[in-house]
Amino acid sequence: MAPSLDLVVTSVATQLMAADTKTAAELSQSILRDLVAVFDVDASFLRRNDHGTRVTKLVAEWPTRDNVPDPDPLGDVSFENADPVFAMLEHLKEPIVLRPDPITDEYGHRVERAKGIPVISMAVAPLLAQGVTTGALGFIKFDDREWSTEELNAVQAIASMFAQLHGRLIAEDRLRFLADHDDLTDLYNRRALMAHLDRRLADGEPDRVSVLLLDLDRLKTLNDYLGHVSGDQFIRVVAERLRDSQGHTSFVGRLGGDEFVVIPAEPVDSDDVEMLAERLRQEIQRGVTVGGEIIKRTVSIGVAFGTPGSDSASEVIQRADEALLVAKKSGGDRTVVFSQAMFESQSLRTDVELHLQQGIEDDALTLHYLPEVDLRTGEILAVEALVRWLHPTRGLLAPDAFIGVAESINLAGELGRWVLRTACAQWAQWRADGINPELALRVNVSPAQLVTANFADEVAHILDEFKMPASALCLEITESVFQDVEVTRKGLLAVRDLGVKLAIDDFGTGYSSLSYLKSLPVDVIKIDKGFVLRLADDEDDRAIVRSTIGLAEAFQLEVVAEGVETATAVDLLLEYGCRRAQGFLLSRPIDAKAATALLKLGRIDGWPPA
Ligand code: C2E
Ligand code: CA
Ligand code: CA
Repeated sequence: MAPSLDLVVTSVATQLMAADTKTAAELSQSILRDLVAVFDVDASFLRRNDHGTRVTKLVAEWPTRDNVPDPDPLGDVSFENADPVFAMLEHLKEPIVLRPDPITDEYGHRVERAKGIPVISMAVAPLLAQGVTTGALGFIKFDDREWSTEELNAVQAIASMFAQLHGRLIAEDRLRFLADHDDLTDLYNRRALMAHLDRRLADGEPDRVSVLLLDLDRLKTLNDYLGHVSGDQFIRVVAERLRDSQGHTSFVGRLGGDEFVVIPAEPVDSDDVEMLAERLRQEIQRGVTVGGEIIKRTVSIGVAFGTPGSDSASEVIQRADEALLVAKKSGGDRTVVFSQAMFESQSLRTDVELHLQQGIEDDALTLHYLPEVDLRTGEILAVEALVRWLHPTRGLLAPDAFIGVAESINLAGELGRWVLRTACAQWAQWRADGINPELALRVNVSPAQLVTANFADEVAHILDEFKMPASALCLEITESVFQDVEVTRKGLLAVRDLGVKLAIDDFGTGYSSLSYLKSLPVDVIKIDKGFVLRLADDEDDRAIVRSTIGLAEAFQLEVVAEGVETATAVDLLLEYGCRRAQGFLLSRPIDAKAATALLKLGRIDGWPPA
């Protein structure tokens, strides 16, 4: 290669290094202009092959031609039916030189007809990537011209650099695409969703934004059943349907797994959004053929609205999520629009998350006690400790408002320890006051507490601290826990080894088979209040209560009825042989002071009613 050509190649290399998607075309053109001068030719072109559509596309040319006749023989050219010169570009592997001779005559005539140029010659080098011809770089002289080996080498070197640039731009495009698209479906991803919502919710944007979160029902079983490959294919079909049904104006994204999001471009009112959700559900529900089988899946949709300038992207998504959760919980296959009630329960939850830890530390928790009574005599046999939280702004909160949250933020252990310690301390105080030492203390324990490694040690430690006999303490655990993993079972056995009693709480709600009762380490069954409340008017509930009492007798377990509100319930319970009960008819849960007074009396005043 002549030294001056070396310099030309180096200069092109340096210029192309700086190119990106935006500047590439213009830069290519200016390089072609320089090269036209260097090689002393009349024209130059850079083309790219699209093997998918079998077309060669013009990327840059010099000189540029305005008003190119249409169809432009030098713009996009299909390889099919192309003249021999263009046909060669499709799979060109080596540089070629074309000079006036019979093969190219037809081409020469066409150019001549189009441009009035008589004779041409040209040198063309392929753009190659991994052996595939991705394009061509060509130089044309409107005359005959010889091309030296050095010149052709330089042309090929430059063509290679264009090929590299082309490859790099494609890779960069793909990376940019992947940064805000989902790999599996090419829909937008979570990051793009946040950016889109941020934009739509910016202060000053005119329109309310509606967000639809979609979650397929029971997809896990589909994956288990068909395998992940088919599961993925299913997801792809769903993605396509969403995209097709939405056209190009709406934002359609996949948030991972089987969760999708749709945000219409236009503001839609609540009725319209429900209609849209309904359409999407129909669309998805149509069967999908995967691996030779027709698979049908329903979908749940949660809808929420966002107001520009006041709601943040994550707030709106959280609300849609909450609505989706409600849809799922009520059986799936439906649309739920975020409501004021959900707003309140959600803000309560956030509040609890923020303040519960402080509440425990500040002693803002307190225990109320629910007496357990002998229905025949009114004698108080036990008390159940029920936690309350004196919230700084919301007043006295019932446990249902915060126990679940405590479990989800890993505070259940700490909360449970506080409850157990406080209740045992109270029991010790009562005994010191001379109250019935046979009084049983019942304390609720959440599953999350049970699985902590040293739960039994903690219990032993607290009993020891207050010199409380283990047999006076009874831990209440909801029924479902007993069916759970071995860990909880081990925890339960360890506690029972201490001599502490165990009760199954809310019995009848856990769908347990009654037959396993005998293999469980329990002493007490508490019949769920739901059954007791309906005793008077539901034959099925009567049957359940009756057989539970019979079962307890057979296994020599104590049985306690919860939720006694009516005299009829009392009569029926006594008739079936259940004598222990608690409920509003006997007493509401009362604070420690009132409980102390009641326990000093030892019985419910005026019970049994005459
Ligand atoms: P639970 O263990 O079934 O407690 C009995 C609940 O039923 C109490 O509600 C009590 O006030 C209510 N109750 C009692 N008699 C009647 C009645 O005649 N009619 C009706 N409708 N309800 C009655 P509370 O205090 O709101 O407690 C709710 C649940 O919170 C408890 O259900 C228990 O599962 C849980 N809980 C309470 N304290 C604790 C605790 O310290 N730790 C844990 N892990 N859970 C607790
Ligand atoms: Ca209980
Ligand atoms: Ca209960």
